[in-house]
Amino acid sequence: MIKTAVIESNCMECGIIYRKKSNRQKYCSRKCKVTKDIREFMIHFKKNRKKYRKMRRDRWVSHKEEESKNNKKWQDNNVVHMIEWRKNYYGKNKNKIKLNYKKWVSKNMFRKLYLNAKRTRTMDKIIISKVQFNAILNMFDGGCCYCGEHKNRTIEHLIPVSKGGKSVYENLLLACWKCNSSKRDKDMEEWYRRQDFYNQDNLIKIKIHMGVDIRTIEKEASFAKKRYGT
Ligand SMILES: [Zn+2]
Ligand SMILES: [Zn+2]
Repeated sequence: MIKTAVIESNCMECGIIYRKKSNRQKYCSRKCKVTKDIREFMIHFKKNRKKYRKMRRDRWVSHKEEESKNNKKWQDNNVVHMIEWRKNYYGKNKNKIKLNYKKWVSKNMFRKLYLNAKRTRTMDKIIISKVQFNAILNMFDGGCCYCGEHKNRTIEHLIPVSKGGKSVYENLLLACWKCNSSKRDKDMEEWYRRQDFYNQDNLIKIKIHMGVDIRTIEKEASFAKKRYGT
């Protein structure tokens, strides 16, 4: 039987002298072996970045739900890391992110407004097509349906959610944040008639959008004339 000689050797990773347990051993510890494997993989990974990116993307497309669940789980388990990473990432890519966001918003304006509305109050699921989205966006020249303001637009429920108004095409328009928060769950027409910027044409347009038929609109107008004098 050949006795294996005890040979001392330098670890190829960290350089310390260690005792070889076999002739093939090149590293002092498992840790050094893994470190070296990772480094080599990273070199390989960087060389084949495009290929791996495509793989990731394909996987993401075909397993969207599973992947995003895993992603979220991982992020929840690495909160501190994620905070650091975000800080770092946003710091480095500020302009790129801003530009991408602008691009996204210009294509998904209604979605953005919808998400805002969802954030600030309970909103039932929007049942509306993309064509209808765009129609609402372009009504009133893209401004507030009451005062015409283009800044800080929000999704307006003509009949308030609290009074059973649904998130359907007929009940949605754009209103500026000021009008929206001033009107809240008041009756739309009553509230609107009391504003300085009240505009009869707009009110009629809104009513037509709500699906009120012309004869009813006329009746209501003559009734309002007696009551409000306008
Ligand atoms: Zn070592
Ligand atoms: Zn307004």
